[in-house]
Amino acid sequence: MSQVKFLLDESEIPTHWYNVVSDMPRPPAPALGPDGAPIGPDALAAIFPPSLIEQEVSRERWIEIPEPVREIYRLWRPSPLYRALRLEEALGTPAKIYYKYEGVSPAGSHKPNTAVAQAYFNRRAGIRRLTTETGAGQWGSALAMAGRMFGIEIRVFMVRVSYEQKPFRRSMMQTWGAEVIASPSTRTNSGRAVLADHPDSPGSLGIAISEAVEEAGSRKDTNYALGSVLNHVLLHQTVIGLEAKKQFEKAGDYPDVVIACCGGGSNFGGTAFPFFADKAAGRVVRLVAVEPDSCPTLTRGHYAYDSGDSAGLTPLMLMYTLGRSFIPPAIHAGGLRYHGDSPLVSQLHHDGLVEAIAVPQRATFEAGLTFARAEGIIPAPEANHAIRAALDEALKCRQTGERKTIFFTLSGHGHFDMAAYDRYLRGELKDSPYPEEAIQAALADLPKVARPS
Ligand SMILES: *Cc1c(COP(=O)(O)O)cnc(C)c1O
Repeated sequence: MSQVKFLLDESEIPTHWYNVVSDMPRPPAPALGPDGAPIGPDALAAIFPPSLIEQEVSRERWIEIPEPVREIYRLWRPSPLYRALRLEEALGTPAKIYYKYEGVSPAGSHKPNTAVAQAYFNRRAGIRRLTTETGAGQWGSALAMAGRMFGIEIRVFMVRVSYEQKPFRRSMMQTWGAEVIASPSTRTNSGRAVLADHPDSPGSLGIAISEAVEEAGSRKDTNYALGSVLNHVLLHQTVIGLEAKKQFEKAGDYPDVVIACCGGGSNFGGTAFPFFADKAAGRVVRLVAVEPDSCPTLTRGHYAYDSGDSAGLTPLMLMYTLGRSFIPPAIHAGGLRYHGDSPLVSQLHHDGLVEAIAVPQRATFEAGLTFARAEGIIPAPEANHAIRAALDEALKCRQTGERKTIFFTLSGHGHFDMAAYDRYLRGELKDSPYPEEAIQAALADLPKVARPS
């Protein structure tokens, strides 16, 4: 009988995060201020603690994980690596499929890996309050839990449409003691400005970020936390890939292709970067980011400087972007609906070192059902994007007879997303590829700063 789960002992939780910058062929492009000049660490000090700013710009290869963070990681880490034997059989593929399951965290996704670290570093800097945004609610719930564990008050600006459609994610945050506010709200200038023009605005991640950043910037006792995109967030998520590499050693195997869904890039970066270290050292391994075709940032966005929020309050980052005024079609993978992408993932993609593909919504749910019926776990709609890509790789192997090793991260479970499954099962879900006109229109919107050649 072949082994199904590859488990590590708690003592094998990584002691250090891996910083991909140390292996990138070019240093990351600097973030810019509104004047187009590179910003210094001071520009971030109003909303981030010094330790996280240091991590944001660090070129050190390894950054130590503080013991109090590892202690909390122990509640669910190391997460299991599964061999998807039943899925392989269902597909009739000679390929070997493995997945790392991050849905075992209390919040049900990979996001607590960075939420716990960010809460820790803020608390150590004397911060007692954090603001943040959340789309579908996964990040908000992760930070609500982490804040509670370190005695930090959490205020979450939740995209209004999700606030109304996902009441249970909201109650989850409230259960952990966080305050949840529908965005756009009347609490901030950014929110009021949107409401003045669009009283019925469904909100967007970009708007909610503006609100959270504005409030953190205006209060001394309050910092801001972001669930993805930034370098330090991807750094914290590398525990996923680092553990996976140890687990592959135990399995006596190594992936030909590493797959993860990609919204802001933290799950993809956390999964793929430790494998990128091997790739940089000469090993052949493909790294594939999967996004929705309704929010095709890496595959069809512009590689340009843009701000991280709608109001333009954040520094400009060089990244793939659909434009900061992007209002996403209402697809169900809420965690993948962001106009931009991690600058690190963007640069690696621009340099041809990681691949990106976009997949339509219905095909992702079809893949999610195939997976759930073979492996049991009901995946988050975001994770279904990775599953779609893994299935397609495995089906290709069925045609060619190749026995490839396919690895993906199952970034979360779908227990709070059953309304979306329900719509899929009733045949009501639609595909909504992002229109080309909108991509062209975004160009006009971009800040007028040149990117380095
Ligand atoms: C938030 C989320 C994602 C996507 O976000 P990234 O920043 O790209 O990681 C993927 N899967 C799940 C389950 C999520 O909650």
